Amino acid sequence: MNDQEPRPALTFLGGAGTVTGSKFLVDTGQVRVLVECGLFQGMRELRRRNWEPFPLPARNIDAVVLTHAHLDHTGYLPLLAKNGFTGTVYCSEATRELCEILLPDSGHLQEEEALYANKRGYSKHSPALPLYTRDDAERCLAQLRPVDYDAELALGQGLKLRLLPSGHILGSAFVSLKSEHLSILFSGDLGRPHDLVMSPPTRIEAADYLIVESTYGNRLHPPETSEDLARICGRHSEEIEEILGFVYGDEVIHRNNMVLL
Ligand SMILES: [Zn+2]
Repeated sequence: MNDQEPRPALTFLGGAGTVTGSKFLVDTGQVRVLVECGLFQGMRELRRRNWEPFPLPARNIDAVVLTHAHLDHTGYLPLLAKNGFTGTVYCSEATRELCEILLPDSGHLQEEEALYANKRGYSKHSPALPLYTRDDAERCLAQLRPVDYDAELALGQGLKLRLLPSGHILGSAFVSLKSEHLSILFSGDLGRPHDLVMSPPTRIEAADYLIVESTYGNRLHPPETSEDLARICGRHSEEIEEILGFVYGDEVIHRNNMVLL
């Protein structure tokens, strides 16, 4: 890009200095896209950050893009919508389907927690309130719009979105944002190159800027072989056979000789 063009600004609103609460704001000067909309989870100090005012009016965000359905990447969405975000939330089809389960459940848990706090009287607030409710979560689901992997989608003002499989969980994706002169790629949580269930992450050829998950950075996973699995299954084979025998009957176990859990 040349010096005359406005530079997009990237602001980290979470997922930095801690592993939860992922939210990255890309502001091109014309379009504002929030990549990830995660809940802070874990210690009380972290969870308290969910209650802090959002650094810009929610209605000023044009679109949200999700890498995958885990709540530390999606769980703030009901609150963002409740506070005035009316735009579209782009994600893969499987992420949308998982969000339909996870977000209402998260709302339900917030309500349960507030109820319990009021019953036991341990909250400083009277009454303690849920961050959002199951109803809030169900309402925001209508804003989710599935996008096919590898399909290019125009977000307006020359900004284009593409989702690429990242191998982390069902529906997980790298988020690629491209304008005419600049590209930025968000990894979300990363899958492994060799996994017994998931396909390996897409091989990324190029990006001007890369925002990469680093929770397990500078560490190596031990190799996972079928012998390891056999050893684990062997160790617990009696328990596994007992459970599967109860569910399916002995015949199925002995005939197939292999079960994917
Ligand atoms: Zn995840």
